[in-house]
Amino acid sequence: MRIVDVRERLIPLSRYADASLAWSELTTSIVAIETDVIRDGKPVIGYGYASVGRYGQGGLIRERFAPRLLRAAPGLLTNERGELDPLLAWSVMMRGEKLGGHGERCVAVGALDMAIWDAAAKIAGLPLHQYLAGYLDLAVSASPRVRLYASGGYLYPTRDLFRLSEEIRQLADLGYGQIKIKIGQTDFAHDRQRIDVAARLISGPENLAVDAMNAYDPVQSVEVAMALAPLGLRWFEDVCDPLDFATQARLSELYAPALASGEALFSLAEAKLLEAHGGVRADRDILVFDPVHCYGLCGYLQIVRFFTSRGWSARSFWPHGGQLFALHIAAALGLGGGEITPLAFHPFNGLFDGAQLVDGAVSLPDLAGIGFESAGPIWSILRSIR
Ligand code: MG
Repeated sequence: MRIVDVRERLIPLSRYADASLAWSELTTSIVAIETDVIRDGKPVIGYGYASVGRYGQGGLIRERFAPRLLRAAPGLLTNERGELDPLLAWSVMMRGEKLGGHGERCVAVGALDMAIWDAAAKIAGLPLHQYLAGYLDLAVSASPRVRLYASGGYLYPTRDLFRLSEEIRQLADLGYGQIKIKIGQTDFAHDRQRIDVAARLISGPENLAVDAMNAYDPVQSVEVAMALAPLGLRWFEDVCDPLDFATQARLSELYAPALASGEALFSLAEAKLLEAHGGVRADRDILVFDPVHCYGLCGYLQIVRFFTSRGWSARSFWPHGGQLFALHIAAALGLGGGEITPLAFHPFNGLFDGAQLVDGAVSLPDLAGIGFESAGPIWSILRSIR
């Protein structure tokens, strides 16, 4: 088995359903990995992308990681049965990489890793969650259902409260009872109004999480946490600089409700620092590491195993990114659930075609691989790089 082609393309993304509202010129890399394995008369191709909320990684993919996969001798990528083995392919990509200095290479590796898992599950003829459970020797659930929460609520440039209200109503109409909005992009008095508006529209603050996108300095972090503490929110995410573990530890002493962190930590080494110095609490806090941002599923598994070895439940993990990929991971590993961006980050918003949200959870399609082929908007763009 060989990887015969790796293709990458940069596409623009928007945090708004109305993509004309520009923000930070966000992009992502979409990738296709073609194998020499034939199924139904066609070569098996795996697809992936570099998550959302940051930027594409085309340079690193084209110059460094794709050539390593393409040059790899067949035996380096395959198990004893000659089948594509994602962990071995990951080792090929990481060959020669030094420890530390994670930068954004982890996102480049993560995008390719997603496509490799998609291809490996397609070769096995299994939905990714089933393939992954078998690969890791875990129990396979006959009908996996994954809990979801909807993410959005970015600050609008004009008529913010009105447009936020419309957005929350739309999310509620789609069936989402648990929602996360952003704060920290404006003064706190206005954010407080945003929280009130959103909480009222989704039947209470216990169904609302807030995400500051690491906006607050150490003093602001404490001030805002003290103001939010009495509200009974579901969780408070990404409060300060992700590497300011001293402030995070202080918050865990002062703020009794759940805190969420990990989205902007990209490696096992950083995860260990968070656990050792960030004051995170296994009995209530939420871990939002992104499987693509931390070197793909292969890196993410290291982080999940580390935390569970330290007494955490896998249910504390709610992966960031709104990826259909992450829903398979959540199903196989028994994670708490997944994030979905039903209106933002088109075409990666929403679920599989025809997916029904029932009691806050969704079933995964019975299709080999991740199932991008049954997610209309995503598939229309991924298939264009074939
Ligand atoms: Mg976040």
